[in-house]
Amino acid sequence: MSVSVWQQKPGQADLYECDVAVIGAGIVGAYTAYTLAGQGKKVALVESRFPAAGATGRNAGMSLMGAADNYATGVARFGREKARHLWNLTRENQDKTRAFVERFKTPSVKSGSAILGIDERESALLAEAYQLMREDGFQVEFSEADPFGRGFGSAILQPDDFGLDPVALVGALVEAAGRRLVFSRLPRSLLFTGATAGDCW
Ligand SMILES: Cc1cc2nc3c(=O)[nH]c(=O)nc-3n(C[C@H](O)[C@H](O)[C@H](O)COP(=O)(O)OP(=O)(O)OC[C@H]3O[C@@H](n4cnc5c(N)ncnc54)[C@H](O)[C@@H]3O)c2cc1C
Repeated sequence: MSVSVWQQKPGQADLYECDVAVIGAGIVGAYTAYTLAGQGKKVALVESRFPAAGATGRNAGMSLMGAADNYATGVARFGREKARHLWNLTRENQDKTRAFVERFKTPSVKSGSAILGIDERESALLAEAYQLMREDGFQVEFSEADPFGRGFGSAILQPDDFGLDPVALVGALVEAAGRRLVFSRLPRSLLFTGATAGDCW
């Protein structure tokens, strides 16, 4: 709903017309707003605190292929096809993230990552996971012993994993989407122009 001229108070943003409102300027909201703005939509990105104020600004900045469990456990849990699909999804997500980091020149480090077995049982599971990953086309390496010599067991090495600065990336996405579209609070009224129920998700 809009406001009448009598209801407006000085200094208050009164009305902002948009096609889509995205709530929350974390990595998901910033990426969504950037994508929609690129499609020519007029976007309102509404953030109650500041961009990357939530989990995005507090995380470890690691872009890793895979899920919390190792691949062998993933296969046992979801079945081979679903596990392969899930791992591939995370790999595609990494490629996309890397492309943004390179495009916006935000800080990153090509560190790779290591999944370490904590004991004999887990080391055996990692050996199995490595075999399955190689068969399914994932570029990983295996070390029988802790490559860092810290007393762990075997390790799966994922050379394509990397680290990034998530706050810088969100800032760049918001900037590229149009900095002025971030509201620290809701304007008095958001007027949706040309949006249908199907546009809201
Ligand atoms: C400690 C920790 C470490 C992690 N490490 C990693 C890692 O290394 N690698 C990795 O890939 N993932 C990691 N994650 C997970 C990753 O950070 C999250 O999955 C991701 O940041 C979620 O992004 P998001 O945009 O959905 O949420 P958020 O970043 O939380 O963004 C939500 C935003 O919405 C705003 N908001 C909330 N309610 C409202 C409202 N009503 N109106 C307006 N704005 C609102 C918040 O202020 C916030 O800015 C980690 C998470 C944590 C907590």
